[in-house]
Amino acid sequence: MIKRLVVLGAGESGVGAAILAKQKGYDTFVSDMGEIKPHYAALLDQHRIPYESGRHTEPRILCADEVVKSPGIPDTAPMVQKLIAQHTPIISEIEFAARYTTAKMICITGSNGKTTTTSLIFDMLRRAGLDVGLAGNIGNSLALQVAKEDHKYYVIELSSFQLDNMYDFRADIAILLNITPDHLDRYNFEFQNYINAKMRITRNQRSEDAFIYWSGDPIIDREIRKLRPAATLYPFGEENAQNVAFVKSNTLVVEAQQPFELPVALMSLKGKHNQYNSMAAAITAQILHIKNEVIRESLTTFAGVEHRLQYVATVRGVRYINDSKATNVNSCWYALESMTTPTVLILGGKDKGNDYSEIDKLVLEKCHTLVFMGLHNEKLVEHFSALGYSPDGEKRYIDTHTLADAVQACYEAAHCGDTVLLSPCCASFDLFSSYEDRGEQFMQCVKQL
Ligand code: ADP
Repeated sequence: MIKRLVVLGAGESGVGAAILAKQKGYDTFVSDMGEIKPHYAALLDQHRIPYESGRHTEPRILCADEVVKSPGIPDTAPMVQKLIAQHTPIISEIEFAARYTTAKMICITGSNGKTTTTSLIFDMLRRAGLDVGLAGNIGNSLALQVAKEDHKYYVIELSSFQLDNMYDFRADIAILLNITPDHLDRYNFEFQNYINAKMRITRNQRSEDAFIYWSGDPIIDREIRKLRPAATLYPFGEENAQNVAFVKSNTLVVEAQQPFELPVALMSLKGKHNQYNSMAAAITAQILHIKNEVIRESLTTFAGVEHRLQYVATVRGVRYINDSKATNVNSCWYALESMTTPTVLILGGKDKGNDYSEIDKLVLEKCHTLVFMGLHNEKLVEHFSALGYSPDGEKRYIDTHTLADAVQACYEAAHCGDTVLLSPCCASFDLFSSYEDRGEQFMQCVKQL
């Protein structure tokens, strides 16, 4: 009997899943509560896949044998609740697509550093001449690639939301960079629920598979003791007997296979966090028997990803850095950690349940001025007032509600030799359509100074 697959959400992953489902002979239907972008609607038309936009028609959805849910839709959505109540299996696009490929899966998750590490690994595999696709949160969906141009390897960035709906999927190489509180609004404000989602990356792994992780993270360490993953472990972090990658005397050392060494000063990505990302990438490459020369070439020339500690311009001796992707407190911590000059920090946006105390020490050490930029800055004002910042003190905060005002305030507050850093700790949706939009607007504004 023909099975009915319903896809909820017609974005990159949903449309990809629908195209693959149609190709595999499913009775396929796509439903999106919002407006479907013209580009995706055209793709669905082209593949003759029925869809609806701006509504969910119950009888067309509840009759599904299986549902592929886009990661952006929370479980609390009424239609999802109805599907759960009637026990309809709900899976992620990655879970669905993986059924139809035998490719090796290299999967990256963590609270921060996913896109950077995923892009770096992709760069290494491509340079090594492997047939590789980039998927997950970046690039084309895995499902679309499996349908159109299946590869031998996939490097896949996985968010906790994708991991939530993965059951039989198995990663050949799983990477877990770190776990710090994020997206708690989607996890019932229970940190452990989010941790559990991240740890799902090791699910179904066997001893011949690899699990690469940052051993300096106390939460990952605790979870590993608890869950005892079956995969071969490749920890990285500080120099010790257990870690297969670390920095020793300002040199990156990777020993998953034949020893590799590279002076940190020659690495193109700067900052301690990027040393960790580079360790994870280099271990992956070594496991795949990629030559050390290729790893070296990639680590010394990789240009980085936009909106991550991206240099914008120097205006009157002040460097402007766009780290708009820092949408949580921990990523701002690493951005501040890498600052080598006095700093004016732009913070604010849609708060996801943030605890700013994590950055107190670095803020005090590095920032003479904080510029708040958001619709609601009350929580920032309260927290940083308690830390000693005030509207007219030596440690100063400036309260703004638009990007133009924020950049102007930075321009006036920064001295020659300072850095202005946009690393907001928050999501962008109060004033912008996305973190990319926020970063682009920031860069434009700076260029007009
Ligand atoms: P993600 O895809 O997980 O959001 P990105 O690579 O896009 O991660 O980086 C997001 C932000 O996190 C950047 O602003 C960067 O400064 C910071 N960051 C990158 N790598 C790490 C890391 N390993 N640990 C902590 N913060 C990081």
